[in-house]
Order: sequence, then structure tokens, then C-alpha cells
Amino acid sequence: MFEAYALGALDAAERLGLEAHLATGCKDCAKAVEEARWLVSQLAYLAPEAAPSDMLKGRLMQTVRAEALQAAKQSAATKPAIPLWMWAGVAALFLFSVFSARNAEQLRKDIRTTNERAASILKERQDLEAQLETAKREAVILTDPASVNIALASSDPQSPQLEAKWHSKLGIVLTGQKVPAPPGNRVLQLWLIPKTPGGKPIPSLTLRPDAEGKFVLLVANPPELMAQTKALAITEEPEGGSSQPTTTPRWVGGVS
Ligand SMILES: [Zn+2]
Repeated sequence: MFEAYALGALDAAERLGLEAHLATGCKDCAKAVEEARWLVSQLAYLAPEAAPSDMLKGRLMQTVRAEALQAAKQSAATKPAIPLWMWAGVAALFLFSVFSARNAEQLRKDIRTTNERAASILKERQDLEAQLETAKREAVILTDPASVNIALASSDPQSPQLEAKWHSKLGIVLTGQKVPAPPGNRVLQLWLIPKTPGGKPIPSLTLRPDAEGKFVLLVANPPELMAQTKALAITEEPEGGSSQPTTTPRWVGGVS
């Protein structure tokens, strides 16, 4: 009967009875009346502004009483009935959680994408820095007057001569132009021939000329000192290089 009371629809006896009970300080009923008043105030905003006829008011009260009675029976039988406005709140909260979860997922995806991009940019930058470092080192070796020139001649008159410059601290730069590419996956490999009589050739890096037959090879850490090296030699080897030459050298140049 709280809704009916809040609506002012109780008859005098019922109203006095409830008010007398509320005057005893029953907190449950006071709370129920407060909720009913809130609900009624919300309904008032929805209702068109029109004075209901007595007949309509009577029918409405019958419905309200019937439902209040049923709700009372249900709440006695099972758990307390949850008012509709509370369900609306629960639904709103649920929708908000779904919305938040979707937003959080999108945010996680965005963060992942951004991290991946940052990592790829960093990698690119490190590669560029390494290339720049190599280029600077090559430039110093090629231009420093302290570098030793080594001309590598070929036994084949069709093959061009190759140039090497050896800087005692920075390493060897070997360059070539119009060098025919070795067949298949085979590569050209640089060897250091030691001055020691009977010393075995020391393997160094491998290379393949580009489409125009050009190449620049930097050996930043030569496997042997210049003073202990008699000559540089280049052979054709399988991909990945060999630990000792498997073909006769195509180019040889003495280190003076
Ligand atoms: Zn009470």
C-alpha cells in the first residue's frame, strides 16, 4: 500500500493506520514510503498533465492494490521483489560495462599497434645508424692517406681489376665494378695469405656483386694483421663461404 499512500490514494482509515504505524518509528516502512514517493515523483514526470477522472483513479488504485498484494505474496514466498526502476539501473550498468569492456579492448589493440610501430621504427633507425656507421668507416678507409692500396689482378683478361684499401686500425675495404656474378648461389670469398711459409689462407667475408657488377665489402676486423699478410686473394665458393679455398683464386694482390 506504500505506492497508493504515496499517490494519496488510500482511504482515510488506511492512511491513518499507516501513519500511526510510521509514527512508531518503523524504519522498514519509512524507507518503503520514501522509495514509493520517489517512484511516484518519477511517474509524475511521465504522466500527461491531466486530472484523472474519479473512475480512472478508482481503476488505477485497484490495479495498484492487486499488484501490491501479488508482490507481497511473492516477496513472502521467495526473495524480495526488485522494483522495475532498479532493473533499469542494472540494465544501464550492464550496458555501461559492455561499452567499457569494448573500449578497453580497443585501447589495448591501439596500444599494441603503437608499440609494434615504435619497435619497427626503432629497428629501422638502428639499421640506418649501422649503415651510416659502416659508410663512415668505409669513407675514412678509402680517403685516409695512411691506408695501403692493394690492386687485385685477375688471370682472366675478361675480369676487371679489383681495388682494396687496408687501414691498419679501421680494416679493409674491397671494391669492384663490372664484376660478373658467380653462377647460381655461389659467392666470391676473400682470403688473407700469410707471410709465414706454408701458412694456410685465412678465410674472410664473402660477397656477391649487384646487378651492375658493383660491390663494396668492408672487413672491419681483418682476421690477420697487415704486417703478417703477404697477399689478398679471392676465390669462388659455395654460398656461406668455405674454411679453406675449394677453387683456384680468380684475383690476387700483394700487400706491400
Ligand atoms: Zn513497518
